[in-house]
Amino acid sequence: MNISILGSTGSIGTQALEVVNDLKGIKDINVKAISGNSNIDLLEKQAREFKPELVAVADICGAKTLKDRLSDTDIKVVGGEEGLIEVATLDSVDTVLASIVGFAGLKPTVKAIESGKNIALANKETLVTAGNIFMDKVKEYGVSLLPVDSEHSAIFQSLQGNSHNKIRRVLLTASGGPFFGKTREELKNVKKENALKHPNWSMGAKITIDSATMMNKGLEIIEAKWLFGVDIDDIEVVVQRESIIHSMVEYEDKSVIAQLSYPSMKHPIQYAFTYPERMPSPDKALSFKDLGKLTFFEADEETFKCLALAKKAGKMGGIMPTILNSANEIAVEAFLRDRISFNEIGDFVEKTLAKYRNIENPTLDDIFETDRMVRGENKI
Ligand code: NAD
Ligand code: MG
Repeated sequence: MNISILGSTGSIGTQALEVVNDLKGIKDINVKAISGNSNIDLLEKQAREFKPELVAVADICGAKTLKDRLSDTDIKVVGGEEGLIEVATLDSVDTVLASIVGFAGLKPTVKAIESGKNIALANKETLVTAGNIFMDKVKEYGVSLLPVDSEHSAIFQSLQGNSHNKIRRVLLTASGGPFFGKTREELKNVKKENALKHPNWSMGAKITIDSATMMNKGLEIIEAKWLFGVDIDDIEVVVQRESIIHSMVEYEDKSVIAQLSYPSMKHPIQYAFTYPERMPSPDKALSFKDLGKLTFFEADEETFKCLALAKKAGKMGGIMPTILNSANEIAVEAFLRDRISFNEIGDFVEKTLAKYRNIENPTLDDIFETDRMVRGENKI
């Protein structure tokens, strides 16, 4: 298997490279191309270790620096969005791991599909913002789309052998994040340092904030709708505090099938790389004796209004999920720069969604244009 990693320097990207090493001697995975935004030191280290044909740096100056640093090798270094697209469409590659964060991942991932690559998808924002187009293209080009998001991998695993059985409900689990059980009033003055401390997962900054606001779960509802063709009303969020049950599927006979493991993104990454096979993993085996119990709660959509907003935008469909996603990316960045408070993230998304009219069946151009417009007209 020959892979490209879009976003190899991130939390998912670096863990994917660990999985490649874990699988050495069990399954050959050749890393043919990698890319990052600007972390030159790490990209150089990864390039020297994995010896890809191609490395792309989104930042053009960074690309020049890396080219100099790798001049003693025959690795090609490219820059900018064109460079990312080269990584996504490289001839020798069969599978692209889409692990760039946010809207920036959309164009290279669409190009990867159009050049016939199978997609292992971590970058949920692409599916939220352009789900209709994404799924049509996957069908048109006959490629496979395998989820890397842990909940969606769990749902996918719970669907194995059941392709002809009707799904009654998808039970999407959520940890509840660092602010579970708090009121809106109590969250008024929380700082980014608190929001960045997730109880169970270590992830990139943007998704960690999304987990604290529960926008992450909202985005995942829309992601599940597209991946598995289920109505948003048939997806129920279940708070599972320990993040041991990664999601579940309930069938017509009310039987619930789940996937359980200790929280580790290496598990879903490995499954996407080895599917349909299961291969040995260095992950720790579950001990129910150590766990003792699992705890469940309902999600609080009043305190965490981002969850309710995402559901609403997902149900409206059309261009609304694009607006939701762009507004959220603006607000999360502003929060990380200390420009707005925690509660203002949801307020900003709500206000922005209310400003625009829907477009039914948006084209890819409508989606790029809307993202540009929302970012241009709603600066913080
Ligand atoms: P991260 O911030 O750690 O890494 C993001 C990667 O994207 C980096 O390699 C960065 O260089 C690259 N990047 C960022 N902006 C870019 C741009 N404008 N152009 C090109 N490259 C750019 O993020 P992450 O936590 O690894 O998350 C990546 C994606 O995976 C997100 O969509 C996230 O929602 C999803 N995801 C992450 C986790 C997790 O545990 N981290 C779990 C489930 C899903
Ligand atoms: Mg997830």
